[in-house]
Amino acid sequence: MKDYEHLYINGEWVAPIDSKPPLEVIDSATEEVMACVAQGGTSDTNAAVAAARAAFESWSQTPVDVRAKYLRDIGAGLTARFSEIAEVISGEVGSPKAFAEMVQAGLSVGDWETYASLIETYEWEQTHGNSLIVKEPIGVVGAITPWNYPLYLIVCKVGPALAAGCTVVLKPASLTPLNAIILTEVIHEAGLPAGVFNLVIGSGSEVGTALATHPDVDMVSLTGSGPVGAQVSKDAADTVKRVGLELGGKSANVILDDADPAAIAMGAVFGCMLNSGQTCSALTRVLIPRSREQEFLDAIVAEASQLTLVDPHATLDDPMALFHGLGPMVSRSQQETVRGYIQKGIDEGATLLVGGPEQPEEFEKGFYVKPTVFAGVTPDMTIAQEEIFGPVLSIMTYEDDDDAVRIANGTVFGLGGAVQSADVERAKAVAKRMRTGQVDINGAAFNTTAPFGGYKQSGNTRERGVFGLEEFLETKSLQLP
Ligand code: NAD
Repeated sequence: MKDYEHLYINGEWVAPIDSKPPLEVIDSATEEVMACVAQGGTSDTNAAVAAARAAFESWSQTPVDVRAKYLRDIGAGLTARFSEIAEVISGEVGSPKAFAEMVQAGLSVGDWETYASLIETYEWEQTHGNSLIVKEPIGVVGAITPWNYPLYLIVCKVGPALAAGCTVVLKPASLTPLNAIILTEVIHEAGLPAGVFNLVIGSGSEVGTALATHPDVDMVSLTGSGPVGAQVSKDAADTVKRVGLELGGKSANVILDDADPAAIAMGAVFGCMLNSGQTCSALTRVLIPRSREQEFLDAIVAEASQLTLVDPHATLDDPMALFHGLGPMVSRSQQETVRGYIQKGIDEGATLLVGGPEQPEEFEKGFYVKPTVFAGVTPDMTIAQEEIFGPVLSIMTYEDDDDAVRIANGTVFGLGGAVQSADVERAKAVAKRMRTGQVDINGAAFNTTAPFGGYKQSGNTRERGVFGLEEFLETKSLQLP
């Protein structure tokens, strides 16, 4: 076990000003304390914001090629610590080793080059009539992040914000601060000027609120749950700052009646269960045509029956372990919440096909939940409406394409989605009717530079690629004589 006694403010590791009990970071599989981490409070946040404010003028004027070099150095520094990052996230989140390496660490190290190249080619100025339109960094950014893809979701904010010329105060999720400490160490070694990046670990109610309300923070960018997004919006309103929200989802995977059951089964299961269902865009509702209900159910249940619960720290020989091996939930509280939803599904009359709410027999320790599949789910049920954030798949039937679209759009969310069909044009037509920020057709690959974000209560922003960069920019027009 290691102790971390410092926050990172104004280019230095400093002891917190506010006196708070240290946070215990718990390994999701062993339930043991991995590390104790110092927490900051309002005074520490204010100090970090002051440092970021002071650094802004110079950083925002730093030439783009110099900023790009810093970004590349950070990417290289993270790459050098790839295995350590994966191992830490396996412990903090419970992501199995193969998934932690490929997804958690892999996505987090790769994006720095993307933002470095982007700013080198970005059109920072354009002429429009007698005006010169200039893109400029918005200022000081408060970045508040969740625990499920902890480092990647930090990188989705800190990467483009620094690239844009903004300075940053990062508040990571309290359950998973260790990966953020590694990033901060890498940033320090890269020699980023003091105050450009600051790390304040602490509670959302104190550090998060201090960032959202602070008059010197120009933008608060939150990835998290809907209720916290609503609170941050209210807190930010008095200072009229920009608020970027990436929130929850209840995404639908619409299987059209011409799809092949064998072809869709793996995507239907993995699309929901990845990272043990702790994925904001997880395809947690599978919509199948009533006319072919049994065929699709059989294929999905056969696939789901291959899922196994695994020790996230183990190296597994099975090449399919990436898809079939699920780790524990992040915390005891998340485990209890998810098991409560499974019980609610049973109580409300859904048909339990796989899994259940009990503690899995194979693990005495660890926050495990059995991967669970329900059929006979109707749109009014809790498990069809609320974000569960665990390995729970709800299968629902529809009558025709119009009915499928109506059910898919019938929640308050609009983050992800998918359509499966033998006819790509037909799938695209259905995808365009879905009120959601992204739709994958026939299992097409995740694109790390395509815009990612939600409609409706799933948020109001787009991250990744040039769309993510532009979230951190202001637009100025200079009228020329
Ligand atoms: P959460 O909303 O509980 O916490 C997110 C962050 O907000 C944490 O750092 C937390 O400390 C902080 N916070 C809490 N209260 C706050 C307050 N009053 N003011 C300011 N900050 C506050 O979410 P979580 O449990 O960490 O993450 C899971 C949620 O995140 C799910 O709903 C998931 O769908 C969502 N999520 C969305 C995306 C996306 O890209 N849309 C990605 C990942 C996760």
